[in-house]
Amino acid sequence: VSESDKNLRSPICCVMGHVDSGKTKLLDFIRGTNVQKGEAGGITQQIGATYFPAGKLREMTKGLKADARLEVPGLLVIDTPGHQSFTNLRSRGSNLCDIAILVVDIMHGVKDRTIESLDLLRRNGADFIVALNKVDRLYGWKTCGNAPIVEAMKVQSRDVRDEFERRVSGIIGQFEKQGLSTELYYKNYDVREVTSLVPTSAMTGEGIPDLLLLLVQRTQRTMVEKLTFSNQVRCTVLEVKVVEGHGTAIDVVLANGVLREGDQIVVCGQQGAIVTTIRALLTPYPMREIRVKGAYQQHKEIRAAQCIKIAAHGLEHAIPGTCLYAMGPDDNLEALKNSVMEEMESVSGHIDKAGEGVYVQASTLGSLEAFLEYLKSKEVNVKVSGVGIGPLHKKDVMKVSAMLEKKRTIKYASILAFDVKVTPEAEEYAEKSGVKIFTSDVIYQLYQQFKAYVDSLIK
Ligand code: GDP
Ligand code: MG
Repeated sequence: VSESDKNLRSPICCVMGHVDSGKTKLLDFIRGTNVQKGEAGGITQQIGATYFPAGKLREMTKGLKADARLEVPGLLVIDTPGHQSFTNLRSRGSNLCDIAILVVDIMHGVKDRTIESLDLLRRNGADFIVALNKVDRLYGWKTCGNAPIVEAMKVQSRDVRDEFERRVSGIIGQFEKQGLSTELYYKNYDVREVTSLVPTSAMTGEGIPDLLLLLVQRTQRTMVEKLTFSNQVRCTVLEVKVVEGHGTAIDVVLANGVLREGDQIVVCGQQGAIVTTIRALLTPYPMREIRVKGAYQQHKEIRAAQCIKIAAHGLEHAIPGTCLYAMGPDDNLEALKNSVMEEMESVSGHIDKAGEGVYVQASTLGSLEAFLEYLKSKEVNVKVSGVGIGPLHKKDVMKVSAMLEKKRTIKYASILAFDVKVTPEAEEYAEKSGVKIFTSDVIYQLYQQFKAYVDSLIK
């Protein structure tokens, strides 16, 4: 079957893992090696994502002699690593991320945030592979450029190989404790049940070809149906930003279908459904031309999967992490408006009926939902009285200060601000009124801070 027969779209890949495991560096490296080569069909830096066309993937993985039969047109890797991009890549309740890379520092093993990422991936039934990054830090490592990992291991000394084996089995044991079976990918004969580990170096490039090939093979072998191109638009809002010369624009990931200039779109907004018309579909220029500062390439239409900037009127209050609908000839506008707003209702189920509980503010709908799920879990079990998305303002703090009126609810005069900015006015008002604001971009830490505060109140 040829590439065109199957008519597949590019898989979408997210990068997750603990702080400092090398998520950013890994993306930089993958991008960098290609940019430097600068050949025809070069990769393009999308908005918040990097797109690798099939030709480039073939070239990057040729050292593996796998005769990589690529059936997908490319691979779209989301550049904003972490929970945020993963939790926001959703449409109609399902995750748009086809596969994830869970990055683990081979020298440090499984950490808090590795586990947090793992939980999130498993809760969403997402497929993923694990990169055991920083193999070049094994003592005495000999650099082998972009070599496949098995080749790179062959030239290492006995000591390096022993240390490697020791660390890998340690990490396999740590994952086992989390109920996850893992194995080095080239020894993994049960890919349905056992998660593959790919040793990599984001510094020197060993194992990078393996990682890319595995991502593509795994998606095109096991997700043909999901990856089949369809005209039904599946699209999600990642960010809302002001763009010079274009006003407020939204960055979206188009996971399936086609978007065209002039399409009428419906987006979930803070004050209700937003109905507007696409004025411009923008992407940055391909890598070599990126020096054209602030300039975007304009497109008449864009086919999935891509990351795009959409300029249109009235997008100021669009909510990141919600899905975007495009009006088709058979669609009913009122029905679409209801559908986009239904997404916000998914969070209202978490709010305490009696109106008691902490106030939760998060940067996007996706991260808000992830945090609410955590607070609801049996071990944590924290009640929530209200929620908000975006920066924390004084008016939010004012709402919460009502909790101070009753002794019973004093602990609920607390705001858990997850990965959002707190305005100085909000901070000042909280200080004056006695409302506590806790901030962090790690779910677990945010809860720990609140818990410590509640414990101190009891004493
Ligand atoms: P992130 O927090 O997961 O995005 O981690 P970064 O990509 O920012 O990397 C954290 C630090 O580890 C930086 O100083 C990187 O240069 C370094 N680093 C990342 N990957 C590697 C690697 O494969 N080998 C070595 N030696 N250092 C690495
Ligand atoms: Mg980073």
